[in-house]
Amino acid sequence: MILEGKVALVTGSTSGIGLAIARAFAAEGAKVMLNGFGDPAQIETIRSELGAGYDAADLSDPSQIEQMVRHCTDELGSPDILVNNAGIQHVSPVETFPPEKWDAILAINLSAVFHTTRLTITAMKQKGWGRIINTASAHSLIASPNKSAYVAAKHGVAGFTKAVALEAAREGVTANCISPGYVWTTLVENQIPDTMKARNLTRDQVVNDVLLAAQPTKRFVTPEEVAAFALFLCRDEAGSITGANLSMDGGWTAA
Ligand code: NAD
Repeated sequence: MILEGKVALVTGSTSGIGLAIARAFAAEGAKVMLNGFGDPAQIETIRSELGAGYDAADLSDPSQIEQMVRHCTDELGSPDILVNNAGIQHVSPVETFPPEKWDAILAINLSAVFHTTRLTITAMKQKGWGRIINTASAHSLIASPNKSAYVAAKHGVAGFTKAVALEAAREGVTANCISPGYVWTTLVENQIPDTMKARNLTRDQVVNDVLLAAQPTKRFVTPEEVAAFALFLCRDEAGSITGANLSMDGGWTAA
């Protein structure tokens, strides 16, 4: 088991990509700290199934992030692996984009990545080994209309990751982005009604003509594919991969 003895803090791991990453890491022996929202009974089922810890921090609040990192360190140990995965989306033209949605997307998708990183990297450097894996997006490389906040935040994550990678390069700590294309999760499902409205399209048209139109493979990326890639980045053989923005987008950004 390649992650035996490692502690992994995975934000936004109560559903979708983060949950698949938490499962993959736990299956390889990691002690996982889960985080995210959802039905408490379902979260408890996942927690006990994975033998994991759970922290309910709202990542839009830096003081809750500090508490989460402290909780993880006290209960499991300081994180050897940090996966910044929590994220939200809002779809609207810029002129009607609600400022509070902008603030929330920037706080959760970008600033939280800064806070978790600043609070965990010292211990990783001291141990001489660490992995920071940020779930960015194809939208960290290219844009789509009506997603200004998300595109801005994800481009920010990509830049931040490079800076952190350079700072930690001599100390055994890597920092990378995984940038998926469309993955079928609640985040994608929830944006379908707004995209229907913003572009005056049917549900099928949004799925086929907007979402999958972007992906030459014409299929959604799976959370398990992303998790397998994240697991690979934790291997010692991946120690020279740092500062990279690794696309998993079915060819979207190659087109
Ligand atoms: P999801 O909605 O299934 O999961 C999002 C997770 O973040 C959930 O666990 C949720 O509870 C948590 N979360 C949301 N707001 C939070 C907050 N304030 N505090 C703490 N946790 C919070 O969506 P997903 O598709 O699995 O998204 C995971 C990541 O992948 C996001 O960063 C997203 O931007 C990115 N991503 C998704 C896709 C896609 O097509 N689904 C593509 C590229 C990148």
